[in-house]
Amino acid sequence: VGIGGTRPMAPMEWFDWLHRGLVLLVIACPCALVISTPVTIICGLHQATQLGAIIKGGEFLERLGQVDGVAFDKTGTLTEGQPQVIEVRATVGHTRDEVLTVAAALEARSEHPLATAIVAAARNAGATPPPVSDFAVLRGLGVRGTIDGRSIYVGSSAFFRRENLGGSAALDREWTDHATAMVVLVGSSDALLGAICLADQPRHDAPAAIAELRRLGIAELVMLTGDNAAVANRIAREIGLDDVRAELLPADKVSAVRQLFERAKHLAMVGDGVNDAPALAAANIGIAFGSQASATALESADVVVLSQHLMRIPALIKLGRRTRRLLAQNIVLAITIKVAVLLLAAAGLATMWMAVVADVGASLLVIFNGMRLLKNRSAAFTKDV
Ligand code: ADP
Ligand code: MG
Repeated sequence: VGIGGTRPMAPMEWFDWLHRGLVLLVIACPCALVISTPVTIICGLHQATQLGAIIKGGEFLERLGQVDGVAFDKTGTLTEGQPQVIEVRATVGHTRDEVLTVAAALEARSEHPLATAIVAAARNAGATPPPVSDFAVLRGLGVRGTIDGRSIYVGSSAFFRRENLGGSAALDREWTDHATAMVVLVGSSDALLGAICLADQPRHDAPAAIAELRRLGIAELVMLTGDNAAVANRIAREIGLDDVRAELLPADKVSAVRQLFERAKHLAMVGDGVNDAPALAAANIGIAFGSQASATALESADVVVLSQHLMRIPALIKLGRRTRRLLAQNIVLAITIKVAVLLLAAAGLATMWMAVVADVGASLLVIFNGMRLLKNRSAAFTKDV
């Protein structure tokens, strides 16, 4: 007599239910679902390295695919960051050699691209810079130090204006403006020694990269720079950007990024300098760009692009989008196959073979689908566009 009045199962019936249970167990195995995401992400990260990009985690690859706005730093990012000294100006009572030598003495201690250019120009002129004490870097503004017991400043006109440096000459357009070049002022707290004008070329593929981002439907494209508005606007016009925010300090770049979030929820910030680090951290995704990017920028960024080709930025966004597409496809694929076999099993139509084939088949299918990322290379992989 069976428990509760039911009759005991016959051995054949018992076997049948065991079999059905096993079929269900095989169907329920989430292999395909579990394996699809890591395989796809690894393939995506692999492709990113081919583009010279280090992505610090799968989630950032996905975020790249969601980007709907990009903020660019100017110097060293949109421009080559290898400015050349094209002119040195000296105020009455000073010589151009003196201006260059004093500036180079301070800049020898700075990592800024402008500093490198000034030091190189002084070396070419055969100058021997005097010793400097009390050196300090004022991020996004310039540098200061003591030479012969006198405090000397080298930096932007915005810096001189804000801190009331260089006397009245520092407000004079004759000193602070140049039609095409960046101007760096050299002076003490009460007198201007002179100015150094530096030209920096936009990267040759900057217009193409901006156009490509527009083509991808990314409308929110902005330049954030510490440089003065005249130079920033000229470069922006040359490369096809129309939204320019100039004379920003590192903290202003952060507020600009926060403000841009209202228009682009998935804002990417691309920059290379120490002054960009806070903004890189504030953005939805921070991209340190260029093989000369500063160590601080490399640290703060989620993605590091060790390349001089700006076209890598749209290429990475496309890679992110493709990764997201394949991830979604794989999840739908894995679940659909499993549910279909599950329904067949519920109707008593599924065999063990079907369950096994569906399980292994689905796993292989999503793996191969994820590996499609490895093919289908965009032009950016093969050419140095
Ligand atoms: P960007 O935002 O375009 O990369 P930065 O924020 O690095 O530029 O610098 C902004 C401005 O500050 C420069 O254009 C320059 O005038 C001045 N500046 C910053 N660092 C230095 C430096 N080491 N020497 C001279 N000027 C500097
Ligand atoms: Mg920069």
